[in-house]
Amino acid sequence: MTIFTKIIQREIPADIVYEDDLCLAFRDINAQAPTHVLIIPKEPISSLDALQSEHQELMGHLLLKVSEVAAELGLSNGYRITVNCGEEGGQSVDHLHIHLMGGRKLNWPPG
Ligand code: 5GP
Repeated sequence: MTIFTKIIQREIPADIVYEDDLCLAFRDINAQAPTHVLIIPKEPISSLDALQSEHQELMGHLLLKVSEVAAELGLSNGYRITVNCGEEGGQSVDHLHIHLMGGRKLNWPPG
């Protein structure tokens, strides 16, 4: 079980900004931008590489929630989403998550 499952189950606290039957969004504990939220499926899928065709609707749901959460958090000037995958991709928690960051000018390319 990852720390994100513990957050879903309310075993450890988090600053939750959105929740529905399929997903949870909460503020990253180590924010890299003034607004930095993680949007996660409640199903404990380990990474992008673990996705199956049955997850197509769920992933569409998560992406649709991105702009809703961004609007709710006032990111009217834009934002970025990132999904780190695997060791070289910088993934540190093995529960699929979308980083939603905004509130400052974000540089490109990322490090
Ligand atoms: P990754 O490096 O896997 O792409 O992203 C994992 C993210 O989870 C990191 O940005 C990290 O700060 C965040 N994180 C790790 N543990 C916790 C926690 O206990 N609570 C919250 N809110 N975020 C966490």
